[in-house]
Amino acid sequence: MNTYDSLSRIQSDIDSGKIDCVGLVNHYLSNINKNKHLNALTAVYADDALSTAATVQQKIKDGTAGRLAGMVFTIKDVYCHEGHELQCGSKILEGFESQFTATCVQRLLDEDAILIGRNNCDEFAMGSSNENSVFGPTINGSGENRVPGGSSGGSAVAVQADMCLVSIGSDTGGSVRQPAAYCGIVGFKPNYGRISRHGLSAYASSFDCVGILAHSIDDTALTLEIMAGADEYDTTVSHTNVPSYSKKTEWNGNAKIACFDNTLSHEGIDEEIKVATSHAYDKLQDLGHSVDHLGFDYLDHVLPTYYILTTAEASTNLSRYDGVRYGYRTDNAHDLESMYKKSRSEGFGDEVKKRILLGTYVLSEGFYDAYFTKAQKVRRLIRDETKKIFDNHDFIVLPTAPTTAFELNSHNRDPLEMYLEDIFTVQASLAGLPAISLPNGKDKNGMPIGIQVIANTFEEEKLLSFSKYLVDHVLAK
Ligand code: GLN
Repeated sequence: MNTYDSLSRIQSDIDSGKIDCVGLVNHYLSNINKNKHLNALTAVYADDALSTAATVQQKIKDGTAGRLAGMVFTIKDVYCHEGHELQCGSKILEGFESQFTATCVQRLLDEDAILIGRNNCDEFAMGSSNENSVFGPTINGSGENRVPGGSSGGSAVAVQADMCLVSIGSDTGGSVRQPAAYCGIVGFKPNYGRISRHGLSAYASSFDCVGILAHSIDDTALTLEIMAGADEYDTTVSHTNVPSYSKKTEWNGNAKIACFDNTLSHEGIDEEIKVATSHAYDKLQDLGHSVDHLGFDYLDHVLPTYYILTTAEASTNLSRYDGVRYGYRTDNAHDLESMYKKSRSEGFGDEVKKRILLGTYVLSEGFYDAYFTKAQKVRRLIRDETKKIFDNHDFIVLPTAPTTAFELNSHNRDPLEMYLEDIFTVQASLAGLPAISLPNGKDKNGMPIGIQVIANTFEEEKLLSFSKYLVDHVLAK
Protein backbone atom coordinates (compact mmCIF):
# COMPACT_ATOMS: atom_id res chain seq x y z
CA MET A 1 0.00 0.00 0.00
CA ASN A 2 1.19 3.50 -0.86
CA THR A 3 1.94 6.05 1.79
CA TYR A 4 -0.50 8.83 1.11
CA ASP A 5 0.29 12.48 1.60
CA SER A 6 -2.86 14.03 0.19
CA LEU A 7 -6.59 13.38 0.16
CA SER A 8 -6.82 14.00 -3.58
CA ARG A 9 -4.47 11.05 -4.25
CA ILE A 10 -6.47 8.83 -1.92
CA GLN A 11 -9.74 9.84 -3.57
CA SER A 12 -8.39 9.25 -7.05
CA ASP A 13 -7.10 5.79 -6.05
CA ILE A 14 -10.52 5.01 -4.55
CA ASP A 15 -12.20 6.17 -7.76
CA SER A 16 -9.96 4.04 -9.92
CA GLY A 17 -10.53 1.03 -7.67
CA LYS A 18 -6.89 0.74 -6.49
CA ILE A 19 -7.99 0.88 -2.87
CA ASP A 20 -11.17 1.10 -0.83
CA CYS A 21 -11.88 2.77 2.51
CA VAL A 22 -11.67 -0.45 4.50
CA GLY A 23 -8.26 -1.26 3.02
CA LEU A 24 -7.18 2.28 3.79
CA VAL A 25 -8.20 2.02 7.44
CA ASN A 26 -6.43 -1.34 7.70
CA HIS A 27 -3.29 0.29 6.31
CA TYR A 28 -3.37 2.97 9.03
CA LEU A 29 -4.22 0.41 11.73
CA SER A 30 -1.20 -1.63 10.77
CA ASN A 31 1.03 1.47 10.96
CA ILE A 32 -0.46 2.31 14.35
CA ASN A 33 0.43 -1.18 15.48
CA LYS A 34 3.97 -1.01 14.10
CA ASN A 35 4.59 2.34 15.77
CA LYS A 36 3.19 1.58 19.23
CA HIS A 37 6.57 2.42 20.77
CA LEU A 38 6.13 6.06 19.69
CA ASN A 39 3.16 6.31 22.09
CA ALA A 40 1.30 8.77 19.84
CA LEU A 41 -2.20 7.44 20.52
CA THR A 42 -4.04 6.97 23.78
CA ALA A 43 -7.00 5.19 22.18
CA VAL A 44 -7.51 3.44 18.85
CA TYR A 45 -11.05 3.14 17.51
CA ALA A 46 -10.35 0.14 15.24
CA ASP A 47 -13.84 -1.39 15.10
CA ASP A 48 -15.64 1.93 14.72
CA ALA A 49 -13.20 3.10 12.03
CA LEU A 50 -13.60 -0.13 10.05
CA SER A 51 -17.38 -0.05 10.18
CA THR A 52 -17.48 3.65 9.26
CA ALA A 53 -15.11 2.86 6.38
CA ALA A 54 -17.53 0.25 5.04
CA THR A 55 -20.40 2.75 5.24
CA VAL A 56 -18.38 5.49 3.53
CA GLN A 57 -17.29 3.09 0.78
CA GLN A 58 -20.95 2.27 0.11
CA LYS A 59 -21.80 5.98 0.02
CA ILE A 60 -19.02 6.54 -2.52
CA LYS A 61 -20.54 3.79 -4.66
CA ASP A 62 -23.97 5.39 -4.33
CA GLY A 63 -22.62 8.85 -5.13
CA THR A 64 -23.72 10.26 -1.77
CA ALA A 65 -20.36 10.54 0.01
CA GLY A 66 -19.23 13.74 1.74
CA ARG A 67 -16.24 15.83 0.75
CA LEU A 68 -13.86 14.16 3.19
CA ALA A 69 -14.56 10.57 2.15
CA GLY A 70 -11.17 8.84 2.36
CA MET A 71 -9.74 11.14 5.02
CA VAL A 72 -8.67 9.17 8.08
CA PHE A 73 -7.98 11.46 11.03
CA THR A 74 -7.13 11.55 14.72
CA ILE A 75 -7.95 14.07 17.45
CA LYS A 76 -5.84 15.36 20.31
CA ASP A 77 -6.95 14.20 23.75
CA VAL A 78 -8.53 17.59 24.45
CA TYR A 79 -11.60 17.18 22.21
CA CYS A 80 -14.99 15.90 23.28
CA HIS A 81 -16.36 12.96 21.34
CA GLU A 82 -19.66 11.69 22.63
CA GLY A 83 -19.44 8.38 24.49
CA HIS A 84 -15.63 8.34 24.34
CA GLU A 85 -13.04 8.97 27.02
CA LEU A 86 -11.47 12.40 27.29
CA GLN A 87 -8.50 12.86 29.61
CA CYS A 88 -6.48 15.86 28.43
CA GLY A 89 -3.41 13.75 29.24
CA SER A 90 -4.32 14.04 32.93
CA LYS A 91 -5.07 11.72 35.81
CA ILE A 92 -7.72 14.16 37.00
CA LEU A 93 -10.02 13.14 34.14
CA GLU A 94 -9.53 9.40 34.63
CA GLY A 95 -12.71 7.59 33.62
CA PHE A 96 -14.44 10.68 32.21
CA GLU A 97 -16.60 10.27 29.10
CA SER A 98 -17.79 13.11 26.88
CA GLN A 99 -21.52 13.74 26.63
CA PHE A 100 -21.32 15.58 23.32
CA THR A 101 -19.01 15.96 20.33
CA ALA A 102 -16.90 19.04 19.64
CA THR A 103 -18.25 21.13 16.76
CA CYS A 104 -15.03 20.87 14.74
CA VAL A 105 -14.94 17.07 15.08
CA GLN A 106 -18.64 16.73 14.25
CA ARG A 107 -18.22 18.81 11.08
CA LEU A 108 -15.46 16.49 9.85
CA LEU A 109 -17.53 13.39 10.65
CA ASP A 110 -20.52 14.91 8.83
CA GLU A 111 -18.37 15.07 5.68
CA ASP A 112 -17.47 11.38 6.04
CA ALA A 113 -13.98 11.70 7.49
CA ILE A 114 -13.09 8.56 9.46
CA LEU A 115 -11.90 8.98 13.05
CA ILE A 116 -9.29 6.37 13.95
CA GLY A 117 -7.92 7.44 17.33
CA ARG A 118 -7.10 9.88 20.08
CA ASN A 119 -3.68 11.46 20.48
CA ASN A 120 -1.36 11.75 23.42
CA CYS A 121 -0.52 15.34 24.45
CA ASP A 122 0.91 17.41 27.28
CA GLU A 123 -1.46 17.59 30.24
CA PHE A 124 -4.15 20.18 29.49
CA ALA A 125 -2.02 21.24 26.49
CA MET A 126 0.61 22.76 28.77
CA GLY A 127 4.06 21.97 27.46
CA SER A 128 6.42 22.01 24.51
CA SER A 129 7.67 18.42 24.45
CA ASN A 130 4.77 16.05 25.17
CA GLU A 131 6.64 14.93 28.30
CA ASN A 132 3.91 16.18 30.67
CA SER A 133 1.37 13.44 29.97
CA VAL A 134 -0.07 10.88 32.36
CA PHE A 135 0.25 8.42 29.44
CA GLY A 136 4.04 8.95 29.24
CA PRO A 137 5.95 10.84 26.54
CA THR A 138 5.37 10.55 22.81
CA ILE A 139 8.55 9.86 20.82
CA ASN A 140 9.49 11.68 17.61
CA GLY A 141 9.53 9.29 14.63
CA SER A 142 12.56 11.13 13.18
CA GLY A 143 14.94 9.97 15.83
CA GLU A 144 15.18 7.69 18.82
CA ASN A 145 15.05 9.53 22.06
CA ARG A 146 13.87 12.85 20.61
CA VAL A 147 10.75 14.69 21.74
CA PRO A 148 8.06 15.42 19.13
CA GLY A 149 7.41 18.92 20.47
CA GLY A 150 4.21 19.81 22.23
CA SER A 151 1.66 20.02 23.31
CA SER A 152 0.10 18.34 20.22
CA GLY A 153 3.05 15.91 20.03
CA GLY A 154 0.94 12.78 19.55
CA SER A 155 -0.95 14.43 16.69
CA ALA A 156 2.27 15.43 14.92
CA VAL A 157 3.77 11.95 15.21
CA ALA A 158 0.55 10.29 14.06
CA VAL A 159 0.72 12.28 10.82
CA GLN A 160 4.51 11.99 10.51
CA ALA A 161 4.50 8.19 10.90
CA ASP A 162 1.51 7.67 8.59
CA MET A 163 -0.94 6.55 11.26
CA CYS A 164 -3.56 8.93 9.81
CA LEU A 165 -3.72 11.55 7.06
CA VAL A 166 -4.67 14.56 9.18
CA SER A 167 -4.83 15.29 12.90
CA ILE A 168 -6.70 17.95 14.83
CA GLY A 169 -4.51 19.54 17.49
CA SER A 170 -4.92 22.71 19.51
CA ASP A 171 -2.69 25.79 19.49
CA THR A 172 -2.70 28.21 22.40
CA GLY A 173 0.87 29.43 22.07
CA GLY A 174 2.37 27.23 19.38
CA SER A 175 1.20 23.72 20.21
CA VAL A 176 0.40 22.85 16.62
CA ARG A 177 3.16 24.80 14.86
CA GLN A 178 6.10 23.76 17.04
CA PRO A 179 5.44 19.97 16.99
CA ALA A 180 4.81 20.21 13.24
CA ALA A 181 8.25 21.83 12.88
CA TYR A 182 9.90 19.12 15.01
CA CYS A 183 8.23 16.36 12.99
CA GLY A 184 8.66 17.76 9.48
CA ILE A 185 4.99 18.33 8.62
CA VAL A 186 2.57 21.25 8.12
CA GLY A 187 1.02 22.80 11.25
CA PHE A 188 -1.64 25.48 10.94
CA LYS A 189 -3.24 27.80 13.47
CA PRO A 190 -6.16 29.87 12.12
CA ASN A 191 -7.12 33.33 13.29
CA TYR A 192 -8.59 33.31 16.80
CA GLY A 193 -12.35 32.87 16.39
CA ARG A 194 -12.23 31.21 12.95
CA ILE A 195 -13.15 27.74 14.27
CA SER A 196 -15.54 27.00 17.12
CA ARG A 197 -13.94 26.00 20.43
CA HIS A 198 -17.10 24.21 21.54
CA GLY A 199 -15.92 20.83 22.83
CA LEU A 200 -12.25 21.84 23.06
CA SER A 201 -11.17 21.61 26.71
CA ALA A 202 -10.21 25.12 27.76
CA TYR A 203 -6.64 26.02 28.65
CA ALA A 204 -6.48 29.80 28.02
CA SER A 205 -9.75 30.82 26.43
CA SER A 206 -8.61 34.07 24.83
CA PHE A 207 -5.77 32.22 23.05
CA ASP A 208 -7.06 28.69 22.34
CA CYS A 209 -7.41 27.77 18.66
CA VAL A 210 -8.33 24.54 16.92
CA GLY A 211 -5.35 23.68 14.69
CA ILE A 212 -4.57 21.29 11.84
CA LEU A 213 -1.58 18.97 11.32
CA ALA A 214 -1.20 17.53 7.83
CA HIS A 215 1.24 16.66 5.07
CA SER A 216 -0.11 19.10 2.52
CA ILE A 217 -1.45 22.63 2.25
CA ASP A 218 -4.41 21.39 0.20
CA ASP A 219 -5.55 19.04 2.97
CA THR A 220 -5.05 21.82 5.52
CA ALA A 221 -7.18 24.18 3.44
CA LEU A 222 -10.03 21.73 2.92
CA THR A 223 -10.08 20.68 6.59
CA LEU A 224 -10.18 24.34 7.61
CA GLU A 225 -13.00 25.08 5.20
CA ILE A 226 -15.11 22.28 6.67
CA MET A 227 -14.46 23.18 10.32
CA ALA A 228 -14.58 26.99 10.14
CA GLY A 229 -17.50 29.31 10.67
CA ALA A 230 -20.21 30.41 13.05
CA ASP A 231 -21.47 28.04 15.72
CA GLU A 232 -24.33 28.71 18.10
CA TYR A 233 -22.31 27.12 20.94
CA ASP A 234 -19.33 29.50 20.73
CA THR A 235 -20.10 33.21 20.61
CA THR A 236 -16.46 34.10 19.95
CA VAL A 237 -16.56 32.58 16.46
CA SER A 238 -16.59 35.12 13.68
CA HIS A 239 -19.73 35.36 11.58
CA THR A 240 -17.79 36.56 8.56
CA ASN A 241 -18.17 34.44 5.50
CA VAL A 242 -15.90 31.37 5.30
CA PRO A 243 -13.96 31.52 2.02
CA SER A 244 -13.56 28.37 -0.07
CA TYR A 245 -10.02 27.81 1.15
CA SER A 246 -9.73 24.62 -0.88
CA LYS A 247 -10.23 26.61 -4.10
CA LYS A 248 -7.62 29.20 -3.19
CA THR A 249 -5.92 30.65 -6.21
CA GLU A 250 -2.30 30.01 -6.99
CA TRP A 251 0.03 32.61 -5.54
CA ASN A 252 1.37 35.04 -8.08
CA GLY A 253 2.96 38.42 -7.86
CA ASN A 254 5.58 39.70 -5.52
CA ALA A 255 5.10 39.40 -1.80
CA LYS A 256 6.29 41.95 0.71
CA ILE A 257 7.86 39.99 3.54
CA ALA A 258 8.92 41.26 6.94
CA CYS A 259 11.50 39.42 8.99
CA PHE A 260 13.03 40.21 12.37
CA ASP A 261 16.80 40.32 12.63
CA ASN A 262 16.60 39.84 16.38
CA THR A 263 15.05 36.40 15.91
CA LEU A 264 18.06 35.12 13.99
CA SER A 265 20.52 36.75 16.37
CA HIS A 266 18.71 35.41 19.42
CA GLU A 267 21.13 33.66 21.77
CA GLY A 268 19.14 30.42 21.97
CA ILE A 269 18.83 29.76 18.24
CA ASP A 270 20.54 26.80 16.52
CA GLU A 271 23.06 27.78 13.87
CA GLU A 272 21.47 25.44 11.34
CA ILE A 273 18.04 27.02 11.82
CA LYS A 274 19.59 30.42 11.25
CA VAL A 275 21.18 29.23 8.01
CA ALA A 276 18.03 27.47 6.74
CA THR A 277 15.88 30.54 7.45
CA SER A 278 18.39 32.92 5.81
CA HIS A 279 18.44 30.67 2.74
CA ALA A 280 14.69 31.00 2.47
CA TYR A 281 14.96 34.82 2.68
CA ASP A 282 17.66 34.81 -0.04
CA LYS A 283 15.62 32.56 -2.29
CA LEU A 284 12.56 34.76 -1.85
CA GLN A 285 14.59 37.79 -2.89
CA ASP A 286 16.05 35.93 -5.88
CA LEU A 287 12.48 35.22 -6.98
CA GLY A 288 11.63 38.92 -6.89
CA HIS A 289 9.92 39.23 -3.52
CA SER A 290 11.01 41.88 -1.09
CA VAL A 291 12.34 40.91 2.34
CA ASP A 292 12.53 43.76 4.83
CA HIS A 293 14.79 43.21 7.78
CA LEU A 294 13.07 44.81 10.74
CA GLY A 295 13.55 44.45 14.46
CA PHE A 296 10.74 43.46 16.77
CA ASP A 297 11.22 45.46 19.94
CA TYR A 298 8.84 43.33 21.97
CA LEU A 299 10.57 40.00 21.37
CA ASP A 300 11.80 39.79 24.96
CA HIS A 301 8.34 40.60 26.29
CA VAL A 302 6.30 38.01 24.42
CA LEU A 303 7.03 35.07 26.72
CA PRO A 304 6.43 36.81 30.08
CA THR A 305 3.20 38.31 28.70
CA TYR A 306 2.03 34.98 27.34
CA TYR A 307 2.84 33.06 30.52
CA ILE A 308 1.17 35.59 32.84
CA LEU A 309 -2.04 35.69 30.82
CA THR A 310 -2.31 32.00 30.01
CA THR A 311 -1.60 30.85 33.56
CA ALA A 312 -4.21 33.34 34.83
CA GLU A 313 -6.82 31.99 32.41
CA ALA A 314 -5.79 28.40 33.12
CA SER A 315 -6.16 28.86 36.88
CA THR A 316 -9.81 29.81 36.44
CA ASN A 317 -10.56 27.33 33.66
CA LEU A 318 -9.12 24.41 35.61
CA SER A 319 -10.99 25.26 38.82
CA ARG A 320 -13.85 23.12 37.52
CA TYR A 321 -11.83 19.93 38.14
CA ASP A 322 -12.73 19.56 41.79
CA GLY A 323 -13.16 15.82 42.34
CA VAL A 324 -16.96 16.22 42.26
CA ARG A 325 -17.99 16.88 38.71
CA TYR A 326 -15.43 15.07 36.57
CA GLY A 327 -13.14 12.07 36.63
CA TYR A 328 -10.75 11.41 39.47
CA ARG A 329 -11.65 11.66 43.17
CA THR A 330 -9.25 10.87 46.03
CA ASP A 331 -9.94 7.84 48.23
CA ASN A 332 -8.59 9.30 51.41
CA ALA A 333 -10.50 12.46 52.20
CA HIS A 334 -12.31 12.98 55.46
CA ASP A 335 -14.31 16.12 54.68
CA LEU A 336 -15.31 18.26 51.72
CA GLU A 337 -12.30 20.54 51.84
CA SER A 338 -9.74 17.75 52.05
CA MET A 339 -11.57 15.98 49.21
CA TYR A 340 -11.10 19.06 46.99
CA LYS A 341 -7.49 19.53 48.02
CA LYS A 342 -6.43 15.92 47.74
CA SER A 343 -8.29 15.26 44.49
CA ARG A 344 -6.60 18.24 42.86
CA SER A 345 -3.17 17.58 44.41
CA GLU A 346 -3.21 13.93 43.37
CA GLY A 347 -4.98 14.44 40.04
CA PHE A 348 -2.93 17.23 38.45
CA GLY A 349 0.69 16.81 37.35
CA ASP A 350 3.53 19.12 38.41
CA GLU A 351 3.52 21.47 35.39
CA VAL A 352 -0.22 22.05 35.63
CA LYS A 353 -0.03 22.65 39.39
CA LYS A 354 2.79 25.13 38.87
CA ARG A 355 0.73 27.05 36.33
CA ILE A 356 -2.41 27.06 38.49
CA LEU A 357 -0.36 28.49 41.37
CA LEU A 358 1.26 31.09 39.16
CA GLY A 359 -2.07 32.04 37.61
CA THR A 360 -3.77 32.32 40.98
CA TYR A 361 -0.91 34.51 42.18
CA VAL A 362 -1.07 36.96 39.26
CA LEU A 363 -4.84 37.27 39.76
CA SER A 364 -4.68 37.73 43.51
CA GLU A 365 -5.61 40.96 45.23
CA GLY A 366 -2.59 43.21 45.46
CA PHE A 367 -0.83 41.63 42.47
CA TYR A 368 -3.63 41.77 39.90
CA ASP A 369 -2.71 45.21 38.55
CA ALA A 370 1.02 44.65 38.72
CA TYR A 371 0.86 41.44 36.70
CA PHE A 372 -2.46 40.64 35.03
CA THR A 373 -3.57 44.16 34.07
CA LYS A 374 -0.06 45.07 32.98
CA ALA A 375 0.25 41.95 30.85
CA GLN A 376 -3.09 42.76 29.20
CA LYS A 377 -1.71 46.17 28.27
CA VAL A 378 1.51 44.68 26.91
CA ARG A 379 -0.55 42.18 24.92
CA ARG A 380 -2.35 45.07 23.28
CA LEU A 381 0.97 46.77 22.47
CA ILE A 382 2.34 43.57 20.95
CA ARG A 383 -0.81 43.14 18.91
CA ASP A 384 -0.81 46.77 17.69
CA GLU A 385 2.89 46.66 16.86
CA THR A 386 2.45 43.40 14.95
CA LYS A 387 -0.62 44.67 13.09
CA LYS A 388 1.27 47.82 12.06
CA ILE A 389 3.76 45.66 10.17
CA PHE A 390 0.91 44.50 7.94
CA ASP A 391 0.25 48.08 6.81
CA ASN A 392 3.26 47.64 4.53
CA HIS A 393 3.82 43.90 4.34
CA ASP A 394 1.93 40.78 3.34
CA PHE A 395 3.56 38.32 5.72
CA ILE A 396 5.99 37.96 8.58
CA VAL A 397 8.38 35.04 8.05
CA LEU A 398 10.49 33.71 10.92
CA PRO A 399 11.68 30.39 12.34
CA THR A 400 9.01 28.30 14.07
CA ALA A 401 11.26 27.37 16.99
CA PRO A 402 14.82 28.20 18.05
CA THR A 403 15.91 24.54 18.08
CA THR A 404 15.07 21.26 16.40
CA ALA A 405 13.67 18.33 18.39
CA PHE A 406 15.73 17.95 21.55
CA GLU A 407 16.42 14.80 23.57
CA LEU A 408 13.89 13.43 25.99
CA ASN A 409 14.41 14.61 29.59
CA SER A 410 16.98 17.21 28.48
CA HIS A 411 14.94 20.29 29.46
CA ASN A 412 13.64 19.00 32.78
CA ARG A 413 15.88 20.91 35.08
CA ASP A 414 15.31 24.39 33.74
CA PRO A 415 11.68 25.26 32.97
CA LEU A 416 12.78 28.49 31.29
CA GLU A 417 14.65 26.50 28.67
CA MET A 418 11.38 24.76 27.85
CA TYR A 419 9.40 28.02 27.73
CA LEU A 420 12.01 29.49 25.39
CA GLU A 421 10.97 26.94 22.74
CA ASP A 422 7.79 29.05 22.34
CA ILE A 423 9.54 32.37 21.79
CA PHE A 424 8.71 32.60 18.07
CA THR A 425 5.22 31.12 18.17
CA VAL A 426 3.53 33.13 20.93
CA GLN A 427 3.56 36.45 19.03
CA ALA A 428 0.83 35.27 16.63
CA SER A 429 -1.10 33.84 19.58
CA LEU A 430 -0.94 37.08 21.55
CA ALA A 431 -2.10 38.98 18.44
CA GLY A 432 -4.74 36.36 17.51
CA LEU A 433 -3.35 36.07 13.97
CA PRO A 434 -3.27 33.09 11.58
CA ALA A 435 0.12 31.36 11.32
CA ILE A 436 1.58 28.25 9.80
CA SER A 437 4.72 26.15 10.19
CA LEU A 438 6.17 24.58 7.05
CA PRO A 439 9.02 22.06 6.72
CA ASN A 440 12.28 23.70 5.67
CA GLY A 441 14.89 20.95 5.43
CA LYS A 442 16.72 19.05 8.17
CA ASP A 443 19.70 19.58 10.45
CA LYS A 444 22.82 17.41 10.40
CA ASN A 445 21.21 14.89 12.72
CA GLY A 446 18.27 14.46 10.36
CA MET A 447 15.92 16.46 12.59
CA PRO A 448 13.35 18.54 10.68
CA ILE A 449 13.52 22.35 10.65
CA GLY A 450 10.37 24.48 10.49
CA ILE A 451 9.74 27.95 9.13
CA GLN A 452 6.76 30.03 10.20
CA VAL A 453 4.60 32.45 8.24
CA ILE A 454 2.19 34.86 9.98
CA ALA A 455 -0.56 36.70 8.10
CA ASN A 456 -2.88 39.59 8.91
CA THR A 457 -6.28 39.19 10.60
CA PHE A 458 -8.46 36.50 8.96
CA GLU A 459 -6.14 36.29 5.95
CA GLU A 460 -5.96 32.50 6.08
CA GLU A 461 -6.72 32.19 2.37
CA LYS A 462 -3.81 34.39 1.38
CA LEU A 463 -1.58 32.61 3.92
CA LEU A 464 -2.43 29.19 2.52
CA SER A 465 -1.90 30.15 -1.08
CA PHE A 466 1.50 31.71 -0.28
CA SER A 467 2.40 28.65 1.82
CA LYS A 468 1.81 26.41 -1.15
CA TYR A 469 4.04 28.61 -3.26
CA LEU A 470 6.75 28.45 -0.56
CA VAL A 471 6.60 24.66 -0.38
CA ASP A 472 6.73 24.30 -4.17
CA HIS A 473 9.34 26.94 -4.99
CA VAL A 474 11.26 28.20 -1.99
CA LEU A 475 11.76 25.85 0.96
CA ALA A 476 14.30 23.07 1.36
CA LYS A 477 12.93 19.53 1.14
N1 GLN B 1 4.13 25.41 24.91
C1 GLN B 1 3.16 26.39 25.18
C2 GLN B 1 2.64 26.24 26.58
O1 GLN B 1 3.08 25.38 27.25
C3 GLN B 1 2.04 26.33 24.18
C4 GLN B 1 1.03 25.33 24.52
C5 GLN B 1 -0.15 25.33 23.60
O2 GLN B 1 -0.15 25.99 22.55
N2 GLN B 1 -1.17 24.61 24.01
O3 GLN B 1 1.79 26.95 27.02
